[in-house]
Amino acid sequence: MSPTLVIRPFQTPARGVAQVPGSKSITNRALILAALADGVTLFTGALFSRDTRILIAALRALGFEVTDDEAAGTIRIVGLGGRIPRDRAKLHVGNAGTAARFLTAFLALAPGGEYELDGDEAMRARPMRGLLDALRAAGCRAVAPDGSAADGFPFTLHTTGKLGRLEVDASASSQLLSALLMVLPLSAGATVSMKGSTVSEPFVEMTARMCGQFGRPLARLADGSWSCPAPGSYVAQPAYAIEPDATAASYFIALPAVTGARASVRIEGYADGGLQGDTAFAKVAAACGAKLRAADGTLVADSWSGIRSGDFDFNAFSDTFLTLATVAALADGPVKIRGIAHTRKQETDRVLAMATELERLGLKVEPSAAQLRADESLSSLTVFPNKAALRQAAAAGPVEIRTYEDHRMAMSFGVLGSFDLFGDGRPWIAIQDPACTGKTFPHFFRALESLRTNFVRVSVDGGAASGKSSTSRRLAQLHGLLHVDTGAHYRSLTRALLLAGASADDPASVKAALARLRIGSRLVARQGARSSALTLDGALPDDADLRTPEVNAAVSKIAALPSVRTFLLEYQRSQVKLASEQGFAGVVMEGRDIGSVVLPDAEVRIFLEADADARARRRAAEGQADQVTQRDHLDATRKTAPMVCPNGACRLDNTHLPLEAVVAQIGELIKVAALPR
Ligand code: C5P
Repeated sequence: MSPTLVIRPFQTPARGVAQVPGSKSITNRALILAALADGVTLFTGALFSRDTRILIAALRALGFEVTDDEAAGTIRIVGLGGRIPRDRAKLHVGNAGTAARFLTAFLALAPGGEYELDGDEAMRARPMRGLLDALRAAGCRAVAPDGSAADGFPFTLHTTGKLGRLEVDASASSQLLSALLMVLPLSAGATVSMKGSTVSEPFVEMTARMCGQFGRPLARLADGSWSCPAPGSYVAQPAYAIEPDATAASYFIALPAVTGARASVRIEGYADGGLQGDTAFAKVAAACGAKLRAADGTLVADSWSGIRSGDFDFNAFSDTFLTLATVAALADGPVKIRGIAHTRKQETDRVLAMATELERLGLKVEPSAAQLRADESLSSLTVFPNKAALRQAAAAGPVEIRTYEDHRMAMSFGVLGSFDLFGDGRPWIAIQDPACTGKTFPHFFRALESLRTNFVRVSVDGGAASGKSSTSRRLAQLHGLLHVDTGAHYRSLTRALLLAGASADDPASVKAALARLRIGSRLVARQGARSSALTLDGALPDDADLRTPEVNAAVSKIAALPSVRTFLLEYQRSQVKLASEQGFAGVVMEGRDIGSVVLPDAEVRIFLEADADARARRRAAEGQADQVTQRDHLDATRKTAPMVCPNGACRLDNTHLPLEAVVAQIGELIKVAALPR
């Protein structure tokens, strides 16, 4: 067990970009489908966690070529069109439900295979029987160590390579069905039908949609059974983007419920129309008071308007019930959660675990933990909030929450513990074995911590080609800041003014043309960072058009005109408000007069320098014809807002420093400025 972690309540609003990892469910399905495809598949945004590593290790043990790059979030896998290289192997699935079920069905495709499979203690007790029975009907044998027919781990699987007409009882877990659906296209004429119904339908939907994405759509017949109308191996995907994990995102939707007014957390890539049914949590949260704004595949979660009571059916997205059950401790009335019977046989008995720990925090729950222990069929949980009882339970110090090797217990109580219960920052919850989040979200507590920030404004000034843009973008990416390139503002205006026939030598023509310009902002993703770009009449100019020799030659003369500077000043200052409203942890603005004129009270002020040779070389490497020293001279000698090293700015010469070293130095300043005061 990893050492207990005391959760420090948030005394400042949670702000910033939540670092949500890739979806476990999608990553592990995609691994299976890619292994069964013909050729090379590359995933981006993949999850690297215990459960995905277990599946990757198993595929390697079976002879597949899988290469991964955790820093880049990529996995490359060479699919063999349905062939499994090794027909003998010993595989351990830990407590990874997806790996356990998906692999077992996958192995059934090997003609004459013999595989020894085992799992952790907890996995040995989880449902497998429905799948093993279905495979038996297809001629597979699953034999327990004592020689009897196995209904769970450990077992030896003897396979035939044929599937035929399968019937599965997936009432205990939809993964039993998903596992079979994924291998269906590889065996011509195979069908899968269900005995009874299954739980967590959206996960079955996810499986079927992903089979389609890999080129083998499944069909559902009138009798409810599944088939593949055009069977064959899957089609490899040269660039398959894994969605961020919607279940993991639920913690960041909930966090602003407990971290005070003005909290705002951005969840990037959160796709409502995506593959994950757990996005439905957002609707429940909204019904309970969450304030959510969705735009361009990003969800911004602001402070909730209280936590309202209610009655919710979580059957279709039950992994997120724990997220609501914990914040329910702070609601304005009882919160009832239904449809969660099947979660009693997951990583742990989740309903019992949740009830037990809420009771240890002094709360009343219904049914009680004792009743749940006595009756395995109970399938709901009502939480009765009571802050006074919580205070009493934690009066002598933080209550140590037991996590039962369940990552979701650790994460959801981590969110609850972020609430400042005593109003003085005193911790009241500690999490036992916090490393259990490694199953799906190894850096959860780090991601939580990174949202404990003050809004930070960073100004980056310096001459042309001094490295402002690459430095600022990287800072934005690493610290969840909004990037604003004011040089691009002057370039956009210059281009528009030139097109309008205005000239820097005729200030009146510039003034008249400015009066006709309508500027706005649009958020764009560039080189891993989120930037706000200036729009003209709602349109975003092409970056290449802003760097033509004509614009390069005219921009500094235009930028020296007082009318132009006044025109842009308020706009540039408004970007700070935009960043704050959009849930960024701050803003990094680059230019010539940011620390001196636009944001003179920025918490972090940087002045970048590099010698003339280095700068000329950088521009040449970008393929640009640009008289950098000439521009610098104009920028530094003009009357209005000349380029200077701002008061109190940190001067950094990066002639001989690699980008990452510069970024690390500035990063330290940002971290200090972001510390809650
Ligand atoms: O940073 P970049 O080289 O794109 O900037 C283009 C020009 O815009 C600069 O040479 C300068 O004349 C002008 N500029 C400015 N004040 C800023 C940013 C850029 O005058 N804050």
